[in-house]
Amino acid sequence: MKEKGLLIVVSGPSGAGKGTICQEFMKSHPDCALSVSATTRAPREGEVHGVNYFFLSHDEFKKKIDEDGFLEHAIFCENYYGTPKDEVLRMIESGKNVILEIEVQGALQVRSHYPEAVFVFVIPPSLEELEERLRGRGTESDEVIAKRLERAKAEFNYVPKYNYILVNDTVNDAVKRLEAIITAEKCVMTRNYKSIEENFIER
Ligand code: ADP
Ligand code: 5GP
Repeated sequence: MKEKGLLIVVSGPSGAGKGTICQEFMKSHPDCALSVSATTRAPREGEVHGVNYFFLSHDEFKKKIDEDGFLEHAIFCENYYGTPKDEVLRMIESGKNVILEIEVQGALQVRSHYPEAVFVFVIPPSLEELEERLRGRGTESDEVIAKRLERAKAEFNYVPKYNYILVNDTVNDAVKRLEAIITAEKCVMTRNYKSIEENFIER
């Protein structure tokens, strides 16, 4: 039987650099997949439906909730976000390591349904740097940035629910740490014990 892939949940305050790290990581890891979420927020310039997100109307999103189509979903700064379930579970079964880049409420839902997932919290070097990155990205109005910063501070309270802290000082170093986390998790005893029993332990 093919070994299942890991489910890796990456959270952290908006602007910490989750998207940047995950995109960079994916360039050199064809054995991994980045889940494409659904959202009701409007596309940013350059974002493509089906690539960055599935951009849905409120009604379409609600319908998918009713059909039990999400692994998790949450409201973030007045918009819905959710992880399409079937595609993620199919990829894990096929042996791919799947990354979900999601906020904390969604991560908690994944934790309750899928405790074997790996939970990584990305933090910026400082709150000042976080604000600079959010403003520097230039994708949100001052009002939305203020909301996201407020939300960011609240999200730090959820850090104890995660297994790893990933400081995003430089993108290169952060990507290397993410690789190290995945490598270490693949070696965790309980993830390998079935194969040890099958191949090494005489009954
Ligand atoms: P998130 O996905 O967590 O909301 P992004 O990946 O969009 O954050 O990054 C926010 C902004 O910070 C972007 O403009 C990005 O280019 C920049 N950024 C990300 N990582 C770093 C880093 N290590 N150093 C400096 N700027 C960064
Ligand atoms: P953004 O609008 O900046 O793309 O994303 C806002 C927040 O929503 C980020 O923290 C991002 O990780 C989170 N997010 C993106 N997709 C999902 C998802 O499918 N589920 C949940 N719960 N959060 C998501």
